[in-house]
Amino acid sequence: MIPTAPKPETRLHGIGVSPGIAVGPAERVGRALEEPERLILEQDEAEAEPARLEAALATTRDQILELQRALESEEGETTIFDAHLLILEDSSILNEVLRLVETQRKSVDWAYYTVSRRYIESLRKIDDPYLRERAVDIEDVAKRLLRNLRHEGREGSDDGVLRPQQSDTKILLAHDLSPSDTVGLDRSRVLGFATELGSSTSHTAIMARSLNIPAVVALHELPDDFSVGDIVLIDGYRGLVIFHPSPATLAEYETLRERERSVLTDLESLSDEETRTADGRKVILSANIEFLEELEGIVSRGAEGVGLYRTEFLYLGRGEPRDEAAQSENYRRVAEATHPHGAIIRTLDVGGDKLCPELYEEPEPNPFLGWRGIRLSLDREEEFRVQLRAILRASAHGKVRLMFPFLSTLEELRDARRQLELAKEELRSEGVPFDEKIEVGAMIEIPSAVLIADHLAREVDFFSIGSNDLIQYTTAVDRINDRVAHLYQPTHPAVISMIRETVEAAHRHGIWCGICGEVASDLVLAPVWIGLGVDELSVGGAQLLRMRRAISRLDSAPCRELTERLRACGTSAEVHGLCLDLASRAYPELLL
Ligand code: PEP
Ligand code: MG
Repeated sequence: MIPTAPKPETRLHGIGVSPGIAVGPAERVGRALEEPERLILEQDEAEAEPARLEAALATTRDQILELQRALESEEGETTIFDAHLLILEDSSILNEVLRLVETQRKSVDWAYYTVSRRYIESLRKIDDPYLRERAVDIEDVAKRLLRNLRHEGREGSDDGVLRPQQSDTKILLAHDLSPSDTVGLDRSRVLGFATELGSSTSHTAIMARSLNIPAVVALHELPDDFSVGDIVLIDGYRGLVIFHPSPATLAEYETLRERERSVLTDLESLSDEETRTADGRKVILSANIEFLEELEGIVSRGAEGVGLYRTEFLYLGRGEPRDEAAQSENYRRVAEATHPHGAIIRTLDVGGDKLCPELYEEPEPNPFLGWRGIRLSLDREEEFRVQLRAILRASAHGKVRLMFPFLSTLEELRDARRQLELAKEELRSEGVPFDEKIEVGAMIEIPSAVLIADHLAREVDFFSIGSNDLIQYTTAVDRINDRVAHLYQPTHPAVISMIRETVEAAHRHGIWCGICGEVASDLVLAPVWIGLGVDELSVGGAQLLRMRRAISRLDSAPCRELTERLRACGTSAEVHGLCLDLASRAYPELLL
């Protein structure tokens, strides 16, 4: 055999959606939705097709329920399968399929493929990431149903679990991975994955984080010269995928991995400690959650409660809101698990990229500037009070605070508080117990709210800064638009000023101020939050211990000096440079 030259190292940048480093042989997985044969059936054959469809629907339904149960027992995220069941039972899809079979004597395979393909294509054209994700769900259901129509198991196995074909561990590469592909992964053999499509808001990204698999999405195109078995490295921290890494790159990453391992082992010892700066100032370090399944992990890492519970995930993908009893049971579990610190439950923040299509009669022309958060709640008072009553009921079982998202005016806060008072009166008249002194907070995530922060502060118990949105609205940069991502700058001097103003306004009025956006987890910016006197940081579960360690290495005085020096900065780069300088002197080992 003629020896081939080693393939050159190729680096592709995507979006790192689940942190960690993984290296191993590549396996290509997943097939596109393939068009079945376009047969014209005999009349009697066509008449038998609806029964074939019925049988395949029943099998598919059982498989989805099975996957859902399997994931539930592993405490993973399962709501996506409710969406899959809704798609499977969607009468408009099924009626169209049966009409095609009846009128054109086509097989149900081809008819189902054709109808779902049409839905997928129209959804993919929509300029909204949430709806585009629904295309993935329909494709996922269609692939599964077509396999069942052919009486096949899933590719690569006969038990419905997607596996690389060889027995050793692999890096999976795919055009896209559907949520049920991701759930079906045999974790003991999947080191990491990378996909051409995807976004950090996709269900697949959410699941990768909950399954702790390093992952990079949105690579756009995999290189032509890679074959199954070639070595691939996934850097989920930087969103980097390296094909055919050179010996030097592998050595560099091995060192990084060693550092990662020893940092993680060392950090575990901090799980039971309080969060204090080196000079003893207490900072509340809490965690953001979207799902109950995250509670155990954050509690075991010593989170001081939940600083942001994104309750809209109770609604998304489900097609209908939960009733009061189910919501209050859910909130009660959060409150009890986080005892004695408790939880800040944010009222519904549907809108923007978190669309609930069933709530909208007309498509939103500009969802991020439209019917979102408190605006939507105040327009649906009955449903809003259902949520408020559910939160109040939970407050009888543990420490619960509530906060309103997306406030842009003082009137909205007053209207929301009025609804809260009504909800309290309703519960009192029914004799239902709740915390009469429940604390109420305002999310500060719109520049107009920053500029009236003194007024807002007089009427709430705390502020929580939603920096994800505050950055997007301060800089006019859509937080999910790839093309302008370089302008989405957490260290923009205007953003730092907005945060400074908010913290100062809160303190002037004797209330505390936290941050619950992603910048709260940013180790480079930790000195700024300490210097500004932020009282609480609510971070992603995976960042808790790193942030606790970082804070423990910081002294308040140099952090305060830093924040004074930042006043003179005109660019993001200058702000970043000064912060990095202090952070890398305090905890170089944490800045991988
Ligand atoms: C934010 O905007 O920073 C925030 C925490 O809320 P969300 O990311 O859910 O909009
Ligand atoms: Mg927000």
